Amino acid sequence: MSSTDTPMMRQYLELKGQVPDALLFYRMGDFYELFFEDAQTAASACELTLTSRNSKDPDPIPMCGVPYHAVDGYLRKLVDGGYKVAIAEQVDTPGEEKPKIMKRELVRVVSPGVPWDSDQIDAREPCYLMGMFGSAPYGLAFLDVSTGELRVTEASTLDVALREIWRLQPKEAVLAETLTQDDRVTEALSRASVTSLEDAWFDEESAHRGLTEILGTHDLTGFGGGGLTVGLSAANAIVSYVRETARVSLEHIKSLRPYSVEGHMVIDHTTRTNLEIFRPLQGQGRKGTLIHLLDRTCTPMGGRCLREWLSQPLVDPAHIYHRQDAVQSLLNGQLRGAVRDSLKQVADLERLGTKVAQGVANARDLLALGRSLAAVPSVVDSLSTLTPFAATLPTDLVEDVQAEISSWIVEEPPVTTSDGGMIQRGMDANLDELIMLATEGKSAIAAIETRERAATGITSLKVRHNKVFGYFLEVTQANVSKVPSDWLRKQTLSNAERYITPELKEFEEKVLGADEKRKSLEYALFCDLRERVGCEITRIQDLARWIATVDTFASLADLADDRRYVRPVMDNSKTLSLIRCRHPVVEVMSLDEPFVPNDIVLDDDRRLVILTGPNMAGKSTVMRTAALCVLMAQIGGFVPAQAATIGVCDRLFVRVGASDDLAHGRSTFMVEMSETALILNQATGQSLVLLDEIGRGTSTLDGLSIACAVAETMHDRIQARTIFATHYHELIGFADERASAVNMHVGVREWGERIVFLRTLKPGGASKSYGIQCAKLAGMPATVVARASNLLRQLEAERAQSKGPQLSLFGGEVLPEEEVPTIDPVREALAEVRPDELSPRDALAVIYRLKELEGR
Ligand code: ATP
Repeated sequence: MSSTDTPMMRQYLELKGQVPDALLFYRMGDFYELFFEDAQTAASACELTLTSRNSKDPDPIPMCGVPYHAVDGYLRKLVDGGYKVAIAEQVDTPGEEKPKIMKRELVRVVSPGVPWDSDQIDAREPCYLMGMFGSAPYGLAFLDVSTGELRVTEASTLDVALREIWRLQPKEAVLAETLTQDDRVTEALSRASVTSLEDAWFDEESAHRGLTEILGTHDLTGFGGGGLTVGLSAANAIVSYVRETARVSLEHIKSLRPYSVEGHMVIDHTTRTNLEIFRPLQGQGRKGTLIHLLDRTCTPMGGRCLREWLSQPLVDPAHIYHRQDAVQSLLNGQLRGAVRDSLKQVADLERLGTKVAQGVANARDLLALGRSLAAVPSVVDSLSTLTPFAATLPTDLVEDVQAEISSWIVEEPPVTTSDGGMIQRGMDANLDELIMLATEGKSAIAAIETRERAATGITSLKVRHNKVFGYFLEVTQANVSKVPSDWLRKQTLSNAERYITPELKEFEEKVLGADEKRKSLEYALFCDLRERVGCEITRIQDLARWIATVDTFASLADLADDRRYVRPVMDNSKTLSLIRCRHPVVEVMSLDEPFVPNDIVLDDDRRLVILTGPNMAGKSTVMRTAALCVLMAQIGGFVPAQAATIGVCDRLFVRVGASDDLAHGRSTFMVEMSETALILNQATGQSLVLLDEIGRGTSTLDGLSIACAVAETMHDRIQARTIFATHYHELIGFADERASAVNMHVGVREWGERIVFLRTLKPGGASKSYGIQCAKLAGMPATVVARASNLLRQLEAERAQSKGPQLSLFGGEVLPEEEVPTIDPVREALAEVRPDELSPRDALAVIYRLKELEGR
């Protein structure tokens, strides 16, 4: 018989056949075992010891296992690594007559989009499972199993659909087969675990039926989902998938939220990445990102709400004003402090509510839910005097649920639900009696110990308990002769004997019987309470959403107050006026130098700024400041400036230095060009476009020509507000020729051989890039720096003589008088002289050269 031909292995293989794409955790006693390739994968991913089953067999089966009580950590590791894990549990209760093989069933499939436990995922991020179906329009549905949020939309083109995927970053996706063959779709889902489903899952006819069944309604018009088609197919596919494949309860999904991808600021994936909104360009975590700076929320729901706002800024000034009003009303530190103190008492109502509705919450979860609800009235009280909140105050504070939880659950319940100790006295007469019996029995047993010690004179006598013998009297071997004859010996140990007496057994029955009954009654009472609370999930979810919004406003207000931000004037104009503005993230980093505020002003008369300035001067910082201020303003926040007026931007494009995308066969230059092409195709007159160093990845003349053509198109045709940072100083002449273009530069001063960065934004173009000085600052070897300086002088001289074609494109460069750098050619030449390396003849040549320079 081969090692796979045993009843157990046949059962294993049958279960594995049901979940071929998951690692199967097969429960055997206190362990989950993995076999074959699953064992090899898990062993290397979790650093487990790989053993084998039937090692004497010529073809042993690889195997590894994890203890059931430590399963959480292993599941997390595997799911974080993108794996799916199926869990098969033993479902028979072991009885008198043992079956040949324990029955086992698949109880859950855990995957990145359907986590094992919401405590294991980032509290401040949603955890979306996405469904996608159709082709123009594309149906998109996102389900966060941890909160019960189900949102649906339809995108008219693939570009729009992809933008939504990049924006919401699902952890897992189920797609119609045809879509998994589209490279752009798979690229957008490169961080997600993707499953392709047959079209039958997306059947439009059954979608409506499936969703109404899940949501417990007759139709979907009440949710505003009446007009959707492919969106509903995608939504039904994911809920069916979760129910059937992951085997998760969907009791907590109570509504469907159709939403439009229109009506918000469009931010493409590159811009989102470049601005480091949610992730830093380098490294892990959130440090250095905009969300890290902005997120001062007190609750996880608030954190997720802020993230959602930031991923989808508004474009309607009226809507923005409403949010600003709410933020402004919370600028009062004392009032805000009171609100935030109460908010800090509120735990994750959404995810706790889900656990309760799914029947997996323990008593601590219920207590946390109750305590969170108890903190809500004081938030409402504090806000009741503020006009912007008056109309939104919740009428239902779910106080009945809170009261019920606090009357049933004890102050410090245990983690387990099977050992009792959760329910308060006075709630159930039967329970109280059982507790009394058990307690009385226990004290009677303690009394027996005292009495028998006195009667026998064995002072070391102990009444002890174990699972096999129940209660017994334990006597050391030295005292055995004093044991009364009517005690019944049960067990002999090396240095002690164990006895029972009829009296002890009688109390034992009373204690253990009462204790067992108490535990099961408590569990039943707890489950009833959990179910009653679970039925109120919709009310809890509504309140949680309100808390999330309040928390987000308070967070924005806290930052605005703390860092002296200003409320921007928002309108539909084409103005972007940021007076004495600061980069919100850079200004809080501990820099060697204080942050220098600048004025960034764009409008109809100066819609294109050609921004020049030396390397490291601060050009990118200026551009990012503009972009971040616009983003912050359009979510309703205040901005780091002294005064600000912002005509809302419909789209935001930020293109900074590109990097290779070799995985997709695109060189640096190709990436740069395709990003620029996207901007030229999509920007409108109401957009904000920030372009850094277009055309640097090719030869000078090619690059300059491309940069010039892009600047012309922006200015003449698209007419978007644009800042164009460049080291092509030839572009400076461009502004002279165009009515609505201006030159600006970031100032720098020369100080001997050093350059001093002024960080100030000034009118006019810069004279040069000081690239060589920067290279020197970066630690480039002195010989290379010296050689580069020589070559630069030669090239400049040649260029001055020939008046190359680039310079004549736009005429001469503009340089304000006070910015003309004071370069001393004699000192410069002297700096490069290396006396030890000069022959007498070279030394003489140097002297002649210096005399010549002095005479100029
Ligand atoms: P390059 O042309 O080499 O890309 P750049 O002109 O774009 O350079 P930035 O990257 O914007 O320069 O700025 C360089 C550094 O200068 C920043 O990392 C920041 O620390 C500092 N800096 C920029 N602007 C300011 C400012 N206004 N105040 C203080 N420090 C600043």
